[in-house]
Amino acid sequence: MSYDLVIRSRRAVLPYGERPAAVAVRDGRIAAVGDRDAPLRAAAEVDLGDLALLPGLVDTHVHINEPGRTEWEGFATATRAAARGGVTTLIDMPLNSLPPVVDVPALETKRAAASGAVHVDVGFWGGAVPGNVPSLRPLTSAGVFGFKCFTADSGVPEFPPLSPEQMHEAFREIAALDGLVIVHAEDPSQLAPPSSGEYADFLASRPASAERSAVELVIRLVEQTGVRAHILHLSAADCLEPLAKARSRGLPISAETCPHYLTLSAGDVPSPDATSYKCCPPIRDAANRDALWTGLADGVISCVVTDHSPCTPELKRGDFATAWGGIASLQLGLPAVWTAARERGHSLNDVVRWMAEGPSALAGLTSRKGRIAVGGDADLVAFAPDEPFTVVPADLEHRHPVTPYADRTLTGAVQATWLRGESVNGTPRGVLLSPAPDRSST
Ligand SMILES: [Zn+2]
Repeated sequence: MSYDLVIRSRRAVLPYGERPAAVAVRDGRIAAVGDRDAPLRAAAEVDLGDLALLPGLVDTHVHINEPGRTEWEGFATATRAAARGGVTTLIDMPLNSLPPVVDVPALETKRAAASGAVHVDVGFWGGAVPGNVPSLRPLTSAGVFGFKCFTADSGVPEFPPLSPEQMHEAFREIAALDGLVIVHAEDPSQLAPPSSGEYADFLASRPASAERSAVELVIRLVEQTGVRAHILHLSAADCLEPLAKARSRGLPISAETCPHYLTLSAGDVPSPDATSYKCCPPIRDAANRDALWTGLADGVISCVVTDHSPCTPELKRGDFATAWGGIASLQLGLPAVWTAARERGHSLNDVVRWMAEGPSALAGLTSRKGRIAVGGDADLVAFAPDEPFTVVPADLEHRHPVTPYADRTLTGAVQATWLRGESVNGTPRGVLLSPAPDRSST
């Protein structure tokens, strides 16, 4: 039996650990996983030697602002950056593009903008906003992966937050749909405009207690409605305790954090002009960062995703009171996290669990994405885990190369990315994903 492609590596990261292996691909799927020297015949062979072979990463938190704010970021640029960063699947957020994806026509507009333009596979979250409960069922049927809501101001007027009562109503409907709600959790009653443009005042304006209060509200609503819920971009380690307790009681709640919360700290911010570090919730102190790593090691946090949220360089100017909050890191998430993870004694296996398996499971894609396993899509990454490089913003494929990682030396370079068995080479071959396997289309 012959295959289309066989990739051999001494360091393949498989679901049961890192080991030498050969991965055989047929018709875009992983058809066999064998010993490194297994006699698998194929039309093409690649021997990676000591380069690691990883499953393509899955990033479930990406803001692509097309259509409507395409000058911030677009499908072509974002997905090229994703492929360069080893991300082969991403799920796009329902806001910052226009119209926001809060009904089926908006989802179709988004799909039309993405169609034929994407270099990796892309799915879509829907939004839960005041008044759109009747749209949640049709959006589910149309193929969104779940619903995002905000407890506090989202930063854009067309995507308002839900009050606790509105959250209850939306969560009940999403539970009835056996759906997933993903929540930006900050208690608006504990947020205030920063008293100056300095980083310290910005940080003080969005305290850890605001996150904890909102997380506790979500936990109560999960208890009351039975909905599956996921906390987005967890920044405050104070939230780990209530989350761990809720999970130990069997409540269906999970959480993610982001590369910037794990690798940067408030002390790194060269205030007042380094607004590339501004995001909401904010990057906190080093002790908080260390505690987030403990949350990952304990499994309370199951995903590391980028929250790639770019804007134009003009909007990113100003000070910490006025600049847009959002960090673009789709191309840099893997090396940033791996650099810090290896220093803390974590393995590539851990990083793959957090950046591929965990997000894939969150999106219900485990049978297709995020693992090197027979039957899954042959989305694969050749990664040089010991190779250092310095971040040069001009090398980034993001529409705007504004990054807090500029000039930092990271370890671990993506050398090649395959999407469904074919090298990502400049032709947009990504497909648009829906939760059911038979719903994907080009
Ligand atoms: Zn976001």
